[in-house]
Amino acid sequence: MRDEIILSTSKKQELIDITPRISSIIKKSKVESGICNVFAAHATAAIIINENYDPNICLDLLDALDKLVPSGVWRHDRIDGNADSHIKSAILGPSETIPIRNNKLDLGRWQAVQFCELDGPRHDRKIIVTITGDGY
Ligand code: ZN
Repeated sequence: MRDEIILSTSKKQELIDITPRISSIIKKSKVESGICNVFAAHATAAIIINENYDPNICLDLLDALDKLVPSGVWRHDRIDGNADSHIKSAILGPSETIPIRNNKLDLGRWQAVQFCELDGPRHDRKIIVTITGDGY
């Protein structure tokens, strides 16, 4: 089964918890036991799994990426000025795969699936959710 989540983002960089939206797609799929792949179809965004309970972790991650990858010093900046967004996206990666158990994401206590906007704001970010497994 395949479904899509379309997101609007409101900041240059932000993390958006998409766990509830993925959970409702899994519920609809009726897959009891299997695998869920979450894929951001963009070159300046990413999908990560991390804690969201303390929102400072999200801000710390973005600050760490800013320290690691400065803006405005790369070859691609001569094209459209967003090389740092592309590099951060490549470091984090476009997808995560999560096990499904009892028709739910089998995440750890503090884990949440988050969309990382790295070159916003944008109004048409597409996330593809692919679910395979045994139904009930
Ligand atoms: Zn670019």
